[in-house]
Amino acid sequence: MNAPLSPQHLKQSLIARDEIASRLRKIVQGEVLFDAASRGRYATDASIYQIDPVGVLVPRGFDDVAAAIDLCREMRVPLLARGAGTSQCGQTVGAALVIDNSKHLNQVVELDLDAMTVTVEPGIVLDHLNAWLKPHGVWFPVDVSTAAQCTLGGMAGNNSCGSRSIAYGNMVHNVEAIDAVLADGTQARFTDEQSMAGAPARIREIIGGLRAIAARERDEIAAHVPAVLRRVGGYNLDIYHPQNPRPYTEDGRVNLAHLLVGSEGTLAYTRRLVLKLSPLPRSKTLGVVNFPTFYQAMDMTQHIVKLGPCAVELVDSTMIELARGNPAFRPVIDKALIGSPEAILLVEFAGESRQEQLARLAQLVELMADLGLPGSVVEMPDAGPQKELWEVRKAGLNIMMSMRGDGKPVSFIEDCAVPLEHLAEYTSQLTEVFERHGTRGTWYAHASVGTLHVRPILDMRRDGTQKMRAIAEEAGALVRRYKGAFSGEHGDGLVRSEWVAWQFGPRLTRAFEQIKDLFDPDGLMNPGKIVRCEKMDAKELFRFKPSYQVVPLKPALDWSAWNVQNDPATERVGAPGTGGDPAHGFAKAVEMCNNNGHCRKFDAGTMCPSYRITRDEQHLTRGRANTLRLALSGQLGPDALASEAVRDAMDLCVSCKGCKRDCPTGVDMARMKIEFLNQWRKRHGLSLKDRLIATMPQWAPWAARLPWLFNLRNAVPLLARLTEKHLGISAKRKLPAWRRDTFIKNAASAPAEQADVVLFADTFNNYFESENAHAALQVLTAAGYKVHVARALAGSPQENRPLCCGRTYLSAGLVEKARAEARRTLDALLPFIRRGIPVVGLEPSCLLTLRDEFLVMGLGEEAQALAKQSYLFEEFLARELKADRLKLQLKPLPQKRALLHGHCHQKAFDAVKPVQQILGLIPELEVELVESSCCGMAGSFGYDASHYEASMKMAELSLLPALREADAHTLLVADGTSCRHQIADGLEQDSGRRAEHVAIILRRALA
Ligand SMILES: Cc1cc2nc3c(=O)[nH]c(=O)nc-3n(C[C@H](O)[C@H](O)[C@H](O)COP(=O)(O)OP(=O)(O)OC[C@H]3O[C@@H](n4cnc5c(N)ncnc54)[C@H](O)[C@@H]3O)c2cc1C
Ligand code: SF4
Ligand code: SF4
Repeated sequence: MNAPLSPQHLKQSLIARDEIASRLRKIVQGEVLFDAASRGRYATDASIYQIDPVGVLVPRGFDDVAAAIDLCREMRVPLLARGAGTSQCGQTVGAALVIDNSKHLNQVVELDLDAMTVTVEPGIVLDHLNAWLKPHGVWFPVDVSTAAQCTLGGMAGNNSCGSRSIAYGNMVHNVEAIDAVLADGTQARFTDEQSMAGAPARIREIIGGLRAIAARERDEIAAHVPAVLRRVGGYNLDIYHPQNPRPYTEDGRVNLAHLLVGSEGTLAYTRRLVLKLSPLPRSKTLGVVNFPTFYQAMDMTQHIVKLGPCAVELVDSTMIELARGNPAFRPVIDKALIGSPEAILLVEFAGESRQEQLARLAQLVELMADLGLPGSVVEMPDAGPQKELWEVRKAGLNIMMSMRGDGKPVSFIEDCAVPLEHLAEYTSQLTEVFERHGTRGTWYAHASVGTLHVRPILDMRRDGTQKMRAIAEEAGALVRRYKGAFSGEHGDGLVRSEWVAWQFGPRLTRAFEQIKDLFDPDGLMNPGKIVRCEKMDAKELFRFKPSYQVVPLKPALDWSAWNVQNDPATERVGAPGTGGDPAHGFAKAVEMCNNNGHCRKFDAGTMCPSYRITRDEQHLTRGRANTLRLALSGQLGPDALASEAVRDAMDLCVSCKGCKRDCPTGVDMARMKIEFLNQWRKRHGLSLKDRLIATMPQWAPWAARLPWLFNLRNAVPLLARLTEKHLGISAKRKLPAWRRDTFIKNAASAPAEQADVVLFADTFNNYFESENAHAALQVLTAAGYKVHVARALAGSPQENRPLCCGRTYLSAGLVEKARAEARRTLDALLPFIRRGIPVVGLEPSCLLTLRDEFLVMGLGEEAQALAKQSYLFEEFLARELKADRLKLQLKPLPQKRALLHGHCHQKAFDAVKPVQQILGLIPELEVELVESSCCGMAGSFGYDASHYEASMKMAELSLLPALREADAHTLLVADGTSCRHQIADGLEQDSGRRAEHVAIILRRALA
C-alpha cells in the first residue's frame, strides 16, 4: 500500500543518490545527471515551486526507461516523467528520478491516414509533429500556447487544452490509445475497454477495480464532477459516467487511455500515444468584436459561441494598451479597434468552404447588431491580418510577464472554468476579490469555454503567500457558486492538488486514492500530485522559500534597472537601484526567468542556438538562468558564480542576444555571460588564447605592419596544428588575414568640421576587410554626404591607435579594459554627437555595443546620447530614405536574387529590415531573408577548437543548407564579419563561395 510523500521518504531517496547514480550508469546508455547544478536545472518548472530531484536520466531509448523503472522499483525511488517542463502548477518538480523524454524519445512511430491517427513517442514537440503532418493535410488540433516546446507526453499528462478547444476538445478528446508502463514494469496498451480483454492479468485486475469504484461512486461522479468542457483536475473517473458536455468517445464506449490523460504521470509512464487527427481547415475568417465594457464582452460570449466559432479569445483593455505601446504592434492592433473598447473578442471561424466562413462572419456582424452593438465588428477575412493579430495577442502576455520587481503575475487560479452564462458575474466578482487584496489582474484567453486566464500580481517573498491562499479560497467560492471547475486547463500539480478534495468531495478524493493504489501501490509515480499532496502554500517547496538569500556581489556592469520593487495594485515600479538586491540588480535580472520554457523553441528567431544543437537543459537560456540563480543564492555552494558548474552552463552560449529579444521576460544571457566571465577571470585568470583575442585591438597595428608573419599560421599547416595544441585555436579554421592597406590609414576622410556623417571603422573592417569600409565610404559619398572617419582624440592615450568598441574585451569578461576603450571612443565621438552628427558603423556586434553595453558600463548620460545617434550603415540609409533625403542612384546588377543572413545582434535590435529595405533599392533585385538562427561563429566562439563541432552544427541547422540551395548567380549577403567567415568555411568545399557586406553590393550597384 502506498504511503504519502513524507520527509522520511525523501530522505531515503537522497541517501541512496550515489548508489542509484552508479547503478543507473551501468544499465542505461543515456545521460545520468546527478550533480547539484544538473539537479537544480530540473528542480523547477513554470510554477512557483522548487524541489531538488533525486537525479536526472535523459534516456537514449525506451530500454533505458524500462531499466530505470525496474531500478527505481527495486530501490524504492520515486520517478517523474518530464517533457518540456512547462507545467504551471508544479507537476514536473519532485524528489524523484526525473526522466527527460524530450531529447531522444521524440519520433513519429506510425501514421495511419485511413484511421486518421498518428502514433508518437512522448517527447515529440507539438509544433514538430504538426509540421511533419502538414504535407498530409492533417493536424493534431490541441493547439496549446506552448506548442513550440511542449511535448505530447506532457500534454497528455496535463490533459492540455488549446485555444480552439470549443471546436476540437481537450487532449482527452483527442487521444485514442496510450502504451503505458506501470511502476511494477507491466506494459499494456490502454485503449477502448473492449479491446483490452487480452491485456495482462495485472491490467485486467486494475480495470476490474476501476469499474467497481466507478459503479460505487456513480452518484458522487454526477454530483461533483463539473459538467464543463474544461475540467482537468483529479482523475477522469467520468469515463464511466460521462459529465463532460463533449463526449470523450463518439459511441459512448469507455476508453481507458482517457483515465491516464490528465493523470500527471502519477499512474503510469507513457511510452507511446495514438492520437486522433483532424483535417487541416482550408479557410479561416476572423471577426474582432469591440465592446464598450468588459462586462458586456463576458456576457455576450454565450451568444457568440452559438454561431459555431472555433475560437473566441479575449484581449482586455490593459493588453490592448500594452500592445499599442509597442511601435511594431500598434498599427496591427489599431486595425482591429473601433474607438477605445474596454475589451475585444477575437472570433475565428474555420472549415473547408470559404463561402461558409464568410457567411458566418456576416452572421456575427448581424448578431452583434441584434445584441445592441451595431458596427462593433472589424471583419478580417484574409489570412495575413489574422496572423498578425494572433501574434499581438501572444505578445501582450509576454509584455505582462516582463514586469520588473519582486511582485509577479502568479499562476494559481489562472484557469478556473465557469459556464458561459456566469462568466460576466464571475469575472467582475473576482476583480473585486483582487482589489480587496490590494492587487489586480489582466484578463485574456479562452472566453469561448469560460476559461479566462488571470494572474494576480503577488510578491511571493513577502505577503504573497497569505494573499494567494485568501484569493484562492474566495475564487474557489465563486467557482463553486457557478458550478465551474477550479482546474480548467493547467492541471493540479503542487498548487492545486490540495483543491481536489474541495472540488470533488471526500468520497471521490478517496476513490482517486484508490485508483492511484490500483496502479501504483508503492507510490513511486510522481508522488504528491493529485492525491496525498502537500498544501499549496508549503513554503519550503517554493522557489523563493523563506531561506532564499542572494549572496552579496559587486557586479562589473550596471544592473540597477532590475534592482527595483513594484506595487502590485498599480504596477508602478520604483527608481533603479532601490530594489534591495545584494547583487545590485544582477540577481533580480537572473530571477526574471520564470521557467516558462519559451527558449526551447525551434521556430523562427535566434534563441537559443546552443539548445537547438544539443537539446540539453544545461545549454538552454532557462538552464543558464537557473544555474546562475542557484549560484547567486548560494545553492551551489560558496563562491559558485565562478565555479566550473556555471562555466559549463555558459560554455556554449554564443552571446547571440537571441534571448534578449525572444525571451518574454527579456533574460539577456549575453550580458550575464560578460558578468560571469568577469567573475571567472578574477578567480581563474585568462588563458593565453583569450588574452590574445581580447587584446587584439592593442596589438593589431603591429600585425598590420608585419602581415606576412602573422599570416604564416594560415599558410603552414604545422603552425595551425601547433596553435591548436598550445592555444586551443582550431586548426580546421583559417584565421582572418592581416593586411597592410588598412582602412583608416588610407581613407579619404572629410574634415571633422565639415562632416555630416561620422564613419566608425571597427577593428575587423579596418584591419581585415578594409574593402567594406571603403565601399561604405564611397556609397555615402555618392549619396552626397561628407563623411569623416572617426579617429582617437589628439592628445588622448594611444592617439594613433584606431578607436574600438571594446567588444573583444567584453567577450573575455575584461569589463575594465572594455570600459577604457569605450571611454576613448565616446570622447572621440562626443564632439560630433553634440553637433547632432550621426555615427555610422559596419560591423553589427561592434556598432551595436555602442547602443547596448556602453549603457551599462557607467559612462553616464553621454553614452545615452551616443546610443541615440549610432546607426548601422543600412539603418542610416533607411533613416534617410524614410526622411526622403536619400539620393542614391543605383543600377541593376547581373544577379537578380540576394540571400540575406542577419547577424544575431542585428536581429536582436530589429536591424535586419533596413538591410532588406536598402538592398531592395537595387533595381530588379529580389531580396530573400534566410530564416536562420546564429551562424555559429559568434565572434571568436567558432575558432575555439573545443567549440568547432558545435559551431558547425549551428551553421548546419538552417544557414548553410539554405545557402547551398542558392545558384551561382545569387548574391550572398551577411554584414557580420564572423558570419562571413563561417559561411566561407562552410561553403568552401562545396563551392568556395563567399558572402559579402551590404556596402560592397551597394557600391557595385552605384550608377
Ligand atoms: C506561457 C505558458 C502558456 C501555456 N499555455 C497553455 C495552454 O494554452 N493550454 C494548456 O493546456 N496548457 C498551457 N500551458 C501549460 C503547459 O505548457 C502544458 O500543459 C503543456 O502541454 C505541458 O507540456 P510539457 O511537455 O511541458 O509537459 P511537462 O510539464 O514536462 O509535463 C506535464 C505532465 O505530464 C507528465 N508527463 C510528461 N511526460 C510523461 C510521460 N512520458 N509519461 C507519463 N507522464 C508524463 C509529467 O510528469 C507532468 O505531470 C502553458 C504554460 C505556459 C508556461
Ligand atoms: S529564459 Fe526566458 S524564455 Fe527561457 S524559460 Fe526563462 S523566461 Fe522563459
Ligand atoms: S545569448 Fe544566445 S546562446 Fe546565449 S542563452 Fe541567449 S539565445 Fe542562447
